Amino acid sequence: MVRIAIMGVSGRMGQMLLRLVDESDLAVLSAAVERQGHDWIGQDLGSVQGGAARGIIVTDDLAQALECSDAIVDFTAPAVSVPLAEQAAAAGVAHVIGTTGFDDDDLAAIAQAGKTGRIVRAGNMSLGVNLLVKLTQQIAQALDTEYDIEIIEAHHRHKVDAPSGTALMLGEAAARGRGVLLPEVADRGRDGITGPRDAGAIGFHAIRGGDYIGEHDVVFAGPGERIVLRHVASDRALFARGAIRAAIWLQTQDVGEYSMFDVLGL
Ligand code: NAD
Repeated sequence: MVRIAIMGVSGRMGQMLLRLVDESDLAVLSAAVERQGHDWIGQDLGSVQGGAARGIIVTDDLAQALECSDAIVDFTAPAVSVPLAEQAAAAGVAHVIGTTGFDDDDLAAIAQAGKTGRIVRAGNMSLGVNLLVKLTQQIAQALDTEYDIEIIEAHHRHKVDAPSGTALMLGEAAARGRGVLLPEVADRGRDGITGPRDAGAIGFHAIRGGDYIGEHDVVFAGPGERIVLRHVASDRALFARGAIRAAIWLQTQDVGEYSMFDVLGL
């Protein structure tokens, strides 16, 4: 059993991680961490969730949490994850980083921590999306510009950015496969008299509405046939599932910073 500490246990992803660690046959919860001053600090994790006491006290003491853990899974914020990378490396504890929004300095600091520690960092922990990225690159590589590439994504009405980060990851993969740079071929959201499609363009379209969790289609439209790759997220638990898989996978790896591609062996 891999002993997993959850960082930010009261958060949206923290709660999801807790549920999935509890359901796992391969992992066990070793510590529940929250930020200093959080209401849950010092209280039993089971009790604060309205259930029976479970003997795990929510803590803000990272050193103590690391001491009793094989891995720490962290979906928090860059200001938390960057120093944690160094601390986890020093403690010999594997660090799974699902946090997003790092700047270049943050990424350099995490890469530095990866010289002595074991890290998996991925902006999308979904196993299916990472597989889709890889397949998109392979198919784009195999097909010429007779096959037009269009990426269509759908998200809930609260999403503020378009195209989604995942759609851009897919676009980057398609461009890589074709040996071109995405900014030079991206065609985002057509409107009006656009003229015929440019050969080699990679198109992006965004649907916003309701409670979509996240859907992505990559279309390769060629003469007489179309290939459509589709990923549908129907439960946010899939991000937590990927993170727990990464925490277990890291137990048998050498030091280094890895991505979900490595975890999946892609
Ligand atoms: P959230 O705000 O619901 O949860 C963050 C939690 O971290 C909060 O409970 C907060 O109190 C806690 N926290 C803050 N500072 C802390 C500290 N110093 N020590 C311990 N805990 C601390 O946010 P969320 O929706 O769970 O998302 C968190 C991050 O995960 C975001 O960056 C989001 O973009 C990212 N995310 C990534 C993926 C992926 O697949 N990689 C999927 C979903 C979300």
